[in-house]
Amino acid sequence: MIHINQCCCQERGMGTPTTSPFDQEIALGFYDGPTHGFLHCRDCQQEFYFAMIDSRAVSSEEDTRIFELASIPIGSIARFETAMSPFQQTIHPVWVPLWSFPTDQDRDWMSQFVDGIVSQKGPVEWVVASSTWLSDEILAARPIENLDRQEPVDWFTSLGLIPASIED
Ligand SMILES: [Zn+2]
Repeated sequence: MIHINQCCCQERGMGTPTTSPFDQEIALGFYDGPTHGFLHCRDCQQEFYFAMIDSRAVSSEEDTRIFELASIPIGSIARFETAMSPFQQTIHPVWVPLWSFPTDQDRDWMSQFVDGIVSQKGPVEWVVASSTWLSDEILAARPIENLDRQEPVDWFTSLGLIPASIED
């Protein structure tokens, strides 16, 4: 693994793992790994909403996952942690909050709180590849304006990732 201290806002590539700049990852959806949630960059302090847009198996145990990242207001993660604090303790650097609450009212309130944060996200700025956790290793990252978004987009090709051979 190559250790390069790179901010989130730098192009990376292309299939070479680099140390993630993200020091907090909150997974609000999970399917063998996070599918959407919040990220914080330790270098520039920017916060993002991330969402998985594609995935491909590279082996029976490992996926390469493609995520799009859009900025959310700085402080959103702290607000989320505060809102969740009566129910669950924040876990660093990776937190998969259990979406289970004492009452339906509490759950609905928290869901609306999350919707409120997500509704403030800006346009997608980055497309990022990682094996599972965005806070672990980044395989490739490109700013969206450098990508040809004409349909159909093959994110694996766009990010310079070698197409995985799926055995079976
Ligand atoms: Zn950054």
